Order: sequence, then structure tokens, then C-alpha cells
Amino acid sequence: MTDDRSTRTDRSQAHTPATRTTRTTACVVGGGPAGVMLGFLLARAGVRVTVLEKHADFLRDFRGDTVHPSTLELLTELGLRERLEKVHHQRISQVCFDRDGQQVTAVDFSHLPVRHPYVALVPQWDFLEMLAAQADTYPEFDLRRNAEAYELVREDGRVVGVRFRDPDGDHVVRAALTFATDGRHSTIRQASGLRSRTFGAPMDVVWFRLPRKDEDPLEEALTLRLRSGRGVAAIPRDTYWQLAYIIRKGGFGALRAQGIDALRRGVAETVPFLADRVDQLAGFEDTSVLEVRVDRLRRWHQPGLLLLGDAAHAMSPLGGVGINLAVQDAVAAANMLTEPLRTAQNLGTPVPERALAAVQHRRQVPTIATQTFQRFVQSVAVAPMLRADPDDHTARMPVPPLVLPLVRRPLGRLIGLGIRPEHVRTRPASAART
Ligand SMILES: Cc1cc2nc3c(=O)[nH]c(=O)nc-3n(C[C@H](O)[C@H](O)[C@H](O)COP(=O)(O)OP(=O)(O)OC[C@H]3O[C@@H](n4cnc5c(N)ncnc54)[C@H](O)[C@@H]3O)c2cc1C
Repeated sequence: MTDDRSTRTDRSQAHTPATRTTRTTACVVGGGPAGVMLGFLLARAGVRVTVLEKHADFLRDFRGDTVHPSTLELLTELGLRERLEKVHHQRISQVCFDRDGQQVTAVDFSHLPVRHPYVALVPQWDFLEMLAAQADTYPEFDLRRNAEAYELVREDGRVVGVRFRDPDGDHVVRAALTFATDGRHSTIRQASGLRSRTFGAPMDVVWFRLPRKDEDPLEEALTLRLRSGRGVAAIPRDTYWQLAYIIRKGGFGALRAQGIDALRRGVAETVPFLADRVDQLAGFEDTSVLEVRVDRLRRWHQPGLLLLGDAAHAMSPLGGVGINLAVQDAVAAANMLTEPLRTAQNLGTPVPERALAAVQHRRQVPTIATQTFQRFVQSVAVAPMLRADPDDHTARMPVPPLVLPLVRRPLGRLIGLGIRPEHVRTRPASAART
């Protein structure tokens, strides 16, 4: 990476007297699972990469923590499995539905033909810190925190980088290829003008924590408790339960209007062992809402630009696949684009758009299949449950076909490994910093 300092001449000069231009090979906007994994793989393969992350650290709102067997397999291929072991985490090998007290196993990972047939519940910030620390051992890796991209730089119809701001002012990164991995509300997606297809979702999810006690049940299966009008998943963490409270789409306003006691009561009725501590949920300020959306871009690329992860396809939280699909996208992109990027780095030639189209072609099949599965479960299991009157205790939940024993293992495979699981094909090209 090289830095040029130049004096700005535009109207923002009054606020930011100097602009720094960084020249690199790959610019990755967004340091989530897709961006950090991609940055790591490219740097490891000898490609200069600058990752821009708008936050100062990874330690922020809960954003899911399900590291699936497919990702564990990739970490093993990368020699990072032992590092992950050092990060405190829980393991689950099954997902169950509890319908009015009756428990049925819906998904079973324990028979998968992999070294780690379980889901590791790893706090996302720990997962990202681990990857970033490993990436940072390569001199080609440049992670800029507090760096928010806000505009694409185009020349002759081609994206040649981005503008970003950090505490020092406004700057530019110029790159042979720009990747947008800036999540479901992607600024770069919006700036690109690429069009997406949006699919409905019947639910939103309210997230919050409650303390965990030694005498709490030891849950080796992740259980989704379904009741009329709501569902609750309790995810075990070190000292607390991370709770996902599923409500009707757009229903958060109505829930708020009922007051915090309604939420406390809903939790106590659905997860009885938490009834003794629901009062510790002080108010709605202790909660955050995930507005569930399912969408995907029709085209994931433009000359000089490729979108990956949630920026290309926002997933429903069903199956907890979002992190894993984002990581798989990153691995596929690194596998397919390292050579063109090396050529660009050495000869200054552009990365051909057909190489970007090939990445989309490879990754859109698993994306479409997974979203189709999620939309099916949403319509046959989640929507009827949420339509039911919460006060009607006689209402029966529809039996979701996926709880049939015959599909437990196939579902374990679909969710745990995904369709067309990726493997790391790139080799370390540069010496790691010691
Ligand atoms: C509350 C919640 C719970 C979830 N639970 C799960 C779960 O249990 N399992 C699961 O697999 N998935 C879960 N997900 C989804 C999962 O978090 C995403 O699918 C996954 O993180 C997508 O990874 P990504 O790298 O594509 O994008 P993100 O993880 O969204 O990362 C995007 C990154 O880009 C940064 N960024 C955004 N804009 C800019 C900009 N302009 N400039 C620079 N940086 C920028 C953001 O700060 C962020 O770090 C959950 C999501 C939420 C919100």
C-alpha cells in the first residue's frame, strides 16, 4: 500500500484540510465475517488488501454467533482450529422445537461427515478478532478501523476505489478491485445502483440478555420454543442467555405499547426456568430489534466491484446461516480471484468482469437454495404460529414438516454444511510477520 497526501480542493476542504490516497490491489469495505475472512485469505495469498471498517472495534451489538460445521472445516483447513478452541464457546449438535412443552428434534448435525459435527456458539467479536489478528500477521493486510466508506470512485465506467472518512478526515482508497461486504444496509450497494429482489418475512426478532445460573438446564440442543403468537430461542453464553424473541413483522411498536411487563410475561410463559429473573429486563432500552429481511441482488458485480455476504443477499435468521454463507462467499471469491488480482498487482491490468460474474454464478446457487428453504419454513411454521392469538391457549401449532425424523439429518447437512461447501484452495504466498 502506498499513501499520497494531497490538498483537497473541494468544498469539504474547510473541515478536512488533507486527503490521503491509498493505492492497493483489493479494497474491502466492511469488516464483518465476509470482509475479514476475505482480507485474511487475500493477504495470506500475497495480495495487498485494505479493509475499511466503520467501527472502532468488533465488540458491539449482538449479531449472531453460530459458527457452523462448514466454517469449522474451513478454520481447520487454515490451521486456525486450535485458536478457536481457546475462545470460550459452547457446542450444540441438534436444534429442537418445543411445541407447547412437547420437544421434537428438527435438525441433527452429529452425523455429518466432518471433523467437527456441531455448531460452535462463538461470540462474533471474538471470532472476528481472532481472524483479524491472524490476518495481521501478513504484511499485505491493512485493516483500517473507524473508517467509513461513503462513495464509490469511478473512472471511465469502472469502479476504481472508494472514498471514506475517519477521524482525520476524508480519504480515498484506489484499488484494482473493490469488494462490498458492508452488510444488509450496505452503503456501497446503494451507491452502486444495483437492483435487488426482496422477499417478505413474517417476523422480526427482539434480542436481549438474561443472566444464566448454575442450576439452569444444560441445553445441548438449541431449542426454539413455539407458542401461540410468539417463539423464543435461548442461546447459552458464558454468564447469560442470549434470547431471541420472535414477534410478528412490524410488531415491535405494539409490544412496546403493551409495556415491558408484557415482554417479561411472554418470556416467563415460554421459557419457565427464566421466570425467576425476567424482572432484570429493565426496559426496552435493554433490547435490540432485528428487522428480518430476505433479499438478494440480481447482479452482484459491476466493472471493478463485487458484492458479497449480506450486502449481496440478506438472509433470514432461520438456521443461523448468515455468518456462514458470508464466510463461504469470501472463500469462493478468494479462490477464484486471487490469480486475477495477482496479475493486476504485478501488471496493472484490470480484473475482468467475467471473473466477478463467475463468483456470483458459483455462490448464487447456495444462496437461492438456502433462501428458498428459509421462506418455506417461514410460511409453513413461523407465519401460522405468529398469526395465532397469544391468549388462545387451545390453539395448536401447525406441525412443521421439517420435524419429521426422516429429514433431521438432511436438514443437518443443508444447514450445517450448506450446498456446495467451499474449501480453501489458495496457498500462503507471503511470509507471516512474527
Ligand atoms: C441481531 C442479529 C442476530 C443474528 N444472528 C445470527 C446468527 O445467530 N447466526 C448467523 O449465522 N447469522 C446471524 N445474523 C446474521 C449475520 O450477522 C450476518 O448474516 C453476517 O454477519 C453477515 O456477514 P457480512 O460480513 O456479510 O456482513 P456484516 O456482519 O453485517 O458486516 C458488515 C460490516 O461492515 C461494516 N460497515 C457497514 N457499512 C460500512 C461502511 N460504509 N464503511 C465501512 N464499514 C462498514 C459494519 O460495521 C460491519 O462490521 C444475525 C444478525 C443480526 C443483526
